[in-house]
Amino acid sequence: MDSKRPVNSDPRRGLPSVDRLTDRVLEAEPDLPAWAATEGARRVLVAARQALGGAGGDPPPGQEKGARSHSAEALIEEAAAIAGTLRGIHPRRVLNATGVVLHTNLGRAPIAPGAAQAAVEAAAGYSDLELDLRTGRRGNRLRGLGDKLCLLSGAEAAHACNNNAAAVLLVLNTLAAGREVIVSRGELVEIGGSFRVPEIMRRAGVRLVEVGSTNRTHPRDYVEAIGPDTAMLLKVHRSNFEVRGFVAEVDLATLVGIGREHGVAVVEDLGSGTLLDLRERGFPADSHAPSRLRDGPDLVCFSGDKLLGGPQAGIVLGRREAVEAVRTNPLARALRLDKMTLAALDWTLASLLGGRAEAEIPVLRQLLLPLAEHEATTRAFAKRLLEHLPSDAAALTCQVEPERVSVGGGSLPGFELESWVIVMQSTLSPETLQARLRGAPTPVIARVRDDAVRIDLRTVDANDHTLLIDAITRALH
Ligand SMILES: *Cc1c(COP(=O)(O)O)cnc(C)c1O
Repeated sequence: MDSKRPVNSDPRRGLPSVDRLTDRVLEAEPDLPAWAATEGARRVLVAARQALGGAGGDPPPGQEKGARSHSAEALIEEAAAIAGTLRGIHPRRVLNATGVVLHTNLGRAPIAPGAAQAAVEAAAGYSDLELDLRTGRRGNRLRGLGDKLCLLSGAEAAHACNNNAAAVLLVLNTLAAGREVIVSRGELVEIGGSFRVPEIMRRAGVRLVEVGSTNRTHPRDYVEAIGPDTAMLLKVHRSNFEVRGFVAEVDLATLVGIGREHGVAVVEDLGSGTLLDLRERGFPADSHAPSRLRDGPDLVCFSGDKLLGGPQAGIVLGRREAVEAVRTNPLARALRLDKMTLAALDWTLASLLGGRAEAEIPVLRQLLLPLAEHEATTRAFAKRLLEHLPSDAAALTCQVEPERVSVGGGSLPGFELESWVIVMQSTLSPETLQARLRGAPTPVIARVRDDAVRIDLRTVDANDHTLLIDAITRALH
């Protein structure tokens, strides 16, 4: 009895009940939803019990037993903070002031307002998604989409699925399950978000045969590796890196020749593909899917939300029998497009067919923004910003400078856009200013380089300029 603490002095008994703490949290912050307040209270009490020792087990790492304050105020405040995080919406809208058009962490391509509206309509009501209105019978959910993709690309047939990772998986599994697929060692890439070519191949049930070296692969490497079990030669676009110097790779047309001669399929994972020819506008040629198809591969696949400027999707184009095999693979059902995405993609393709894409699709508008116009907009914005700042704002200097920015999102590696930025220096450290901008009511994401925060308006809609000025003004306050 002596060696044990009397039950009454157990400090955990001083903690309130979940219900009691929830009530106090809701009194303090009546706007919080009850479910979030309850969960906040529950988590805080679990942590407090652990910190006070006993049945709750060890305290969380880095925290000594009983080290934290368990005053009623502290508990309420902490529970309210947790509840606030829980009730927060995700994803939240942010302003992308980086100038990186396809920013992976910011959701890649913003879709056109018309595409978003099409998605809303498809989502909020019934539609003829899988009904043929003329016959009243079951219809094909991809029918309009497939036609548009073929018209835009010259492909015999087209399929679309959840994303390009799914497209690659589906194509490999359809055309090569249980057999060998030959890939250059220079193309065994990893794309952000842990998409690795060798792992996808394993999951698709195909055997990877690596050929060549990291920097050089020759036609004979492929030819020598082809055996009775070879099903496919796969070319993978190096979306996010370049190899320079002593390099050699086999171009798609040559690969197609080898494939034909030996009766094996040739597929290209283009990563980022366009259906518009942007070569005359100074962009590299290798993203143009219709040109790639003219080289004769069986299939080409790419993302819907990279340079195409549509919603997240994987697009497969190519020979009719190959596409038909992909479409009827049972996995296609598991990887299919949902109706909202389908509606947004269909709208985006109609915009391309109608010749309106450059005006309507944000990614294309931003990429093709005339440099002189961008400079004028940037200078006007900088002037407005300086006029707007109160005199007590942390002494801002604002320069307008030329800059080069990448396109991002696993597109056009090594290619940089000429741009203009506002270079901001203040009495705050650039990291502090950057963090404060992230904390704005509509968070602003900006880059820091050379000890200054840089704002590129290329990726900020003109309708949001006032919001951006407000955010900067607040951050400097
Ligand atoms: C981006 C990319 C993928 C993955 O596409 P998601 O649409 O993100 O699934 C696959 N392969 C390559 C070469 C890519 O660039």
